[in-house]
Amino acid sequence: MAKKTLVTAALPYANGPLHLGHLAGAYIPADVYVRYQRLKKTDVIFICGSDEHGVPITIRADREHVSPREIVDRYHFMMKESFRRLGIVFDNYSRTSLPMHYKISQGIFLRLNEKGYVREQQVKQYYCPTCRRFLPDRYIEGECPNCHRTDARGDQCEGCGRWLEPEQLIGPKCKVCGSPPEMRMTKHWYFRLSQLQKRLEQWQASKSEWKGNVREFCAGWFQEGLTDRPITRDIDWGIPVPLPDAAGKVLYVWFDAPIGYISSTVEWAEKQGSPERWRDYWCDPETRLIHFIGKDNIVFHAIVWPAVLMAHEGFVLPDQIPANEFLNIEGKKLSTSRNWAVWVDDYLQIFPPDPLRYYLAANAPESKDSDFTWKDFQTHNNAELADILGNLINRSLSFIEKQFGGKVPAPSELSSADRELLAAVADATDRIGRSFEEFQVRRATVELMDLARTGNKYFNDAAPWSTIKTDRARCATTLNTTVQLEAALALLMDPIMPFSAEKLWKMLNMPGSHRDHAWDDAPRLRVPDEHPLGLREILFHKIEDDIIDQQIQKLHSSTPA
Ligand SMILES: [Zn+2]
Ligand SMILES: [Zn+2]
Repeated sequence: MAKKTLVTAALPYANGPLHLGHLAGAYIPADVYVRYQRLKKTDVIFICGSDEHGVPITIRADREHVSPREIVDRYHFMMKESFRRLGIVFDNYSRTSLPMHYKISQGIFLRLNEKGYVREQQVKQYYCPTCRRFLPDRYIEGECPNCHRTDARGDQCEGCGRWLEPEQLIGPKCKVCGSPPEMRMTKHWYFRLSQLQKRLEQWQASKSEWKGNVREFCAGWFQEGLTDRPITRDIDWGIPVPLPDAAGKVLYVWFDAPIGYISSTVEWAEKQGSPERWRDYWCDPETRLIHFIGKDNIVFHAIVWPAVLMAHEGFVLPDQIPANEFLNIEGKKLSTSRNWAVWVDDYLQIFPPDPLRYYLAANAPESKDSDFTWKDFQTHNNAELADILGNLINRSLSFIEKQFGGKVPAPSELSSADRELLAAVADATDRIGRSFEEFQVRRATVELMDLARTGNKYFNDAAPWSTIKTDRARCATTLNTTVQLEAALALLMDPIMPFSAEKLWKMLNMPGSHRDHAWDDAPRLRVPDEHPLGLREILFHKIEDDIIDQQIQKLHSSTPA
C-alpha cells in the first residue's frame, strides 16, 4: 500500500477571478497529479481554499465602498465555481475567513509564542491622523524617488518596478483620505526565523530530488542569512492577535494563509464525520505532504512555512514542493492590473475545459517560463487532440458501426503488429505513470499523444478498409485491438482530460466508470467480444480561425495602451 499523500495547491487570493497563470502554475499540475494518484488507489486527499485576508482585499473594498466580507464572498464563490467547471476536484475547498481557521491560526501563534519563537519589537510606522489608524505599506502613495512617478505605492513603484519602503516616498499621502501621514511608534510581533536557519538547511540538504528552481532559490536566502519577520499588522481585517496587549493587531496574511492547509483538512475531516482524521495526514510522519505552487510562493512554502511547522512541532514537513515558473500571454508578462490576462470564465464561455487542460499540461512552465498563445492553443487542439487522438477514435468506432453492426468484433489470431500495439499500451502506462510521479506533466502529455500516434499508425498500416474485402477475420482483429487501446486511453487520459475520458468510456459503452479501475490495469482492460458500442460523438471539435482571431482581438482591446 502506498503512503498517505496530502496534496495542496496554493490558496488563491480572493481578490479577483482566476486566470490562466493561476491554472498553469499550480492548479492544473496539482489536479493532474492527484487524479493520477487516485487511479493508483493511493490514500490521497487534495486540499485547498480561498486566501481571504490581507491589504489588497481591504483596498479593493475601500475602493468599491463595500465591506471586505463582500469582496471575499464574491471571489470565493466565483473561484470555487471556476474550479468545478474545469474539473479541478478538491477533497475540500475551504476559506480562511472561517471561525475554525481563526482558532487554529491563533493556536499556532500562541504555541510559537510560548516556545519562544516570537518576539515583540517597537517599530516606526506611518499613521494617518485623519483616518486614525496605522497605514500598511500599500495604503501609502507618493512620488517614486527613482522614476518620480507620482502614484508609487509604499511597497513598490509600478512605474519602474523598484521595491520601496514607505519612508522613501516623496510627499507621502494616505491612500484613503489623501492626508499626509505622520511617523509614530507601534509594536509588532516577529517570528524568529533566524533561529531556525540551521535546522532548515539541514532538512533541505536531504531534498536532492527537489526541483532546481526551489533549491537554488532557498540556497540564495540561506546565504544572505534569514532574518526575523513581522507576523502582525495594524489593520482591522484579519485574525486578531490573541494576546491581551494586541488590540487592533491582526496576524499577517502570509502567516495565516498556509495554516489554511491545516484548517481546510480539519474541515474535511469534520465533513467526513471523523473530526480527528486530519491528524492521520498532518501528524503521521509517513504522510507525503506535497505543496503545488507558483515560483512567487517559494519563499513562503520552502522556508517560512516549514520553519513554522518545525517551531510548532508535531506536524509533518513538506516532502515535495513542485514550484512552477510563470505563464506569459502572447509573449508578454501576464498582468492583471493591465488586464493582460486570459480569464478562466471568459475561456469557458467559448471552449470546453479539456483542450485548455491539455494545452496547459503540454506547455507547463516546469523549468522555465512558458508562453500561452491563442494560435498555439488552436494548433494543439486541432493538430493533436482532433487530428490524432479524436480521429483514431472516431474512424475506428464508425468503422465498427458500419461494418460490424456497432458490435466490437471478436478477434482471431493476433499478428505481431497487434501484439506490438498491446505492448505499447503496457509500456505507455508505465512511462506516463512515472512522468506523473516525477511531476513531469509535459513529458506525460507527449507520451500520451505518442500512444495515440502509435494507434493511428497501426490502424493505417493494418488498412481495415481493405482487409474487410479480403480477410474479414483479420479486419475484425484490427478493430478489436484498436478498441482495447481506446479503453486503455480512457484511463490514461483521465488525469489530463477527465471530461473526454468519461465521454470515451461512455462511447465504448463500458459498465460503471473508468475510475473504478486502477491505473496499472489499463493494459488489461478488456472490451468483451460482440460488445455493443454506445452513442458515438465527436470527442474534440476543431477550432476555426475566426474564433481564435476574436480571442486575440479581445485580449488586445481590453488592455489599456
Ligand atoms: Zn518608480
Ligand atoms: Zn487617511
